[in-house]
Amino acid sequence: MTYEIATLRGDGIGPEITDEGVKVLRAAAEVTPGLDLEFTQLAGGADHYAEHGEVAPDSTWKTMRSAHAILLGSMGHPDIRMPDGTEAQGHFIVNARKSLGLYAGVRPIKLYPGARGIDPNQKHVDLVLVRESTEGLFASFGGGAEISGEVYADTMIVTRKGTERVARHAFELARTRSGRPQDGDRRVTCVDKANIFRSLAFFREVFDGVATEYPDVTADHALVDSFAMLLIQHPERYDVLVTENMFGDILSDLAAALVGGLGLAPSGDIGDEHAMFQPAHGSAPDIAGQDKANPVATIVSGRMMLDWLASRHDDDALRAAADVVERAVVTTMESGALTADLGGELSCSQFGDAVAATVRRLAAEAG
Ligand code: ATP
Repeated sequence: MTYEIATLRGDGIGPEITDEGVKVLRAAAEVTPGLDLEFTQLAGGADHYAEHGEVAPDSTWKTMRSAHAILLGSMGHPDIRMPDGTEAQGHFIVNARKSLGLYAGVRPIKLYPGARGIDPNQKHVDLVLVRESTEGLFASFGGGAEISGEVYADTMIVTRKGTERVARHAFELARTRSGRPQDGDRRVTCVDKANIFRSLAFFREVFDGVATEYPDVTADHALVDSFAMLLIQHPERYDVLVTENMFGDILSDLAAALVGGLGLAPSGDIGDEHAMFQPAHGSAPDIAGQDKANPVATIVSGRMMLDWLASRHDDDALRAAADVVERAVVTTMESGALTADLGGELSCSQFGDAVAATVRRLAAEAG
């Protein structure tokens, strides 16, 4: 089957890393009988806003909606701002999440060979953070309240429907995993501030209600402040985490430090009908155009996209392609082929070439 992938390369390092992601995905499709991936390149992002006064043209939104999935590089530039002072790319991302119903921000945090987290002795990091992505403190993004330029307010919105669906996503995900590294216990930890905020006490209450549908998965709670410390000290205690939008935004960057930085952290924004995959990092303008960014997060986001498409379309060809991409990334990194952020010598494009070659080699070996 042919799958149409709406592709936005974005700004900064976005084009470089997207090209490597597409290169590896094309190699995976090439070695997988019955699978065809068609990448449609779309306009959008901060540079597009600077030139055209809109973050993306109507045709981009239309194709994102009709495509089977969306692959995004990274967007944004700190100097390209809306009249209200907010960065342009935020408007693209938040609008995409809201208009396409992408309520689950899924951020796997896993140690790859050659990558060292903040504690070099910590070998057991394999967790997934699920961030509620359509409400919480981001609900009033682009709006909020202002009084005479002296008082500003953004409101935290937590709904039963929004919390139920993201909690369910987290429990379903836990069922597909092999549990926390410490003891294999499948668990979902609700990270909140239920002791202080009514909205987050409600988030926990709804989470507990959903948990009763999943007696085979341990339901756990943590308060976000002490959790931030425990996550760094004992990542092996966690399997799947679910949290409000703003907490998830912050915790996912913190969690990336456990596995060697942002260049290694993939993400998926997933809804019931659509999904968009992109590295968890920003557009890194400090290294843009130098062919030295690490494309692992983008390549692994592409692997997540294949997995999502596989379960949505029940297609074994996609499952096989996802599997060979993951194995190729691990094998390549195990061989010591690494980019500069991990102390290696490969450029972004050389690393992409190495993974694509490994995809072909693994497929040839498998016969
Ligand atoms: P945003 O707010 O748009 O998410 P940010 O403020 O988190 O962006 P990034 O653009 O993610 O910032 O960059 C943070 C730091 O991490 C920069 O020093 C950047 O060079 C580095 N970095 C980010 N992504 C990569 C990557 N793929 N490879 C190597 N270094 C990266």
